[in-house]
Amino acid sequence: MIPEYQLDAFSNTFLSKKKAETQNMAVLQTAREVIVDIRKNGDQALHHYIEKFDGVLPNQLVVSADERKEAWDQVDDKTIESLKQAANNIRKFHQKQLQSSRFMHMDENIVSGQLFRPIEKVGIYVPGGTACYPSSVLMNAIPAILAGVEEVIMVTPARNGESIAPILSVAADIAGVTTIFKIGGIQAIAALAYGTETVPSVDKIVGPGNAYVAAAKSLVFGDVGIDMIAGPSEVAIIADDTAEPSFVAADLIAQSEHDENARSFLITTSASLIGKVNAELEKQCAVLPRQSIAEASLKNKSGSVQVTTIEEAFRLANQLAPEHLEIQVENPLSFLGYIKNAGSVFLGNYTPEALGDYYAGPNHVLPTSGTARFSSGLSVDDFIKKTTFLYYSDKALQDAAQHVITIAEEEQLVGHARAVEKRLKN
Ligand code: NAD
Repeated sequence: MIPEYQLDAFSNTFLSKKKAETQNMAVLQTAREVIVDIRKNGDQALHHYIEKFDGVLPNQLVVSADERKEAWDQVDDKTIESLKQAANNIRKFHQKQLQSSRFMHMDENIVSGQLFRPIEKVGIYVPGGTACYPSSVLMNAIPAILAGVEEVIMVTPARNGESIAPILSVAADIAGVTTIFKIGGIQAIAALAYGTETVPSVDKIVGPGNAYVAAAKSLVFGDVGIDMIAGPSEVAIIADDTAEPSFVAADLIAQSEHDENARSFLITTSASLIGKVNAELEKQCAVLPRQSIAEASLKNKSGSVQVTTIEEAFRLANQLAPEHLEIQVENPLSFLGYIKNAGSVFLGNYTPEALGDYYAGPNHVLPTSGTARFSSGLSVDDFIKKTTFLYYSDKALQDAAQHVITIAEEEQLVGHARAVEKRLKN
């Protein structure tokens, strides 16, 4: 069910850079038109596109205090308890990422350092088109709030044109989201980036979404910050003979059920594992509610490969730079040093990616499509600006002056040299 490749064929098929060929020009064009219109015409254009793309314009775009209160009665206690536990774990993990401003006294005449300041206003996109993701609320909002962001504004499309899923509202309360708007798609990103009469503009927009959301984020980047442009979700599993085939298959399926473009990879040193995993995939997919999606993803976008050594397995995984990397081998912790490129790593037979997706603490907003080569998952850092500062006393400047002047003159920027010369005592 998951095609097996020879090493060269696996590399040729899965290791090329894909962004340019996968960018959809029609989607980008639609996004550009909607953004320009909303930027120019505010609420009037916003209302038009909500009706056009979501069918119905809610009577009120903001989720009211009453609606947020009522949502708690519509979610069962067991679910609320699980969300609270997950939120606690996510908070605890991200708390460790907080850093204080840095002050460096180089000597008694020079002080320098870095001020760490939170971004003031952040927008969080929570997808709501075809499914409902309370975990996305927690994963995006909690690091922002811990960083000290004052206003966290969440957007998500309304269901049936009027209300949002109650569980999203409850998750937003647990995380500490300030305001929620019932807006989705390109129009939500445009409203957050430029503001309308109803929606305040923000400084940065984070959160996953479909191709329209991703295109809109790529177009507003520069006027606002964004976290990343997420591609289809992916997992690579490195496994040896000690891996349990039914666990490996279950984790490949958990990835593949996301959507037909999701990618799952199995890299193994075992001669028999691929066959056993395939038998398990057949069995487990047959009773999966999202069977057709998972099977399409496994057959068309995924691959398995047998390698001769564990070093080769890690070399391949580092080249893939997967969003999620599972290591189901003997003594998994001893291989941490082999990892160069991966969004998030799950070690051992009893650490399925699903733990991290929902509950354990590390963030699930992660770099996809090989971008873990140069970027990282969402963290408190994404909501902090680092401003350097510098103080020189009169004496310190006199001591440094000649070096500054020499470099300024080499660059033929005489004004720079003069700014220092003016302050020289003799
Ligand atoms: P979504 O909220 O991203 O998109 C829904 C919106 O798309 C609608 O409100 C509508 O305005 C707009 N839209 C739909 N068709 C359109 C069209 N033809 N023209 C213009 N606008 C259009 O919800 P979704 O569609 O369910 O997609 C969610 C995505 O987010 C999935 O790909 C899912 O895998 C991904 N996701 C990723 C993570 C992660 O952490 N990486 C988590 C959750 C979800």
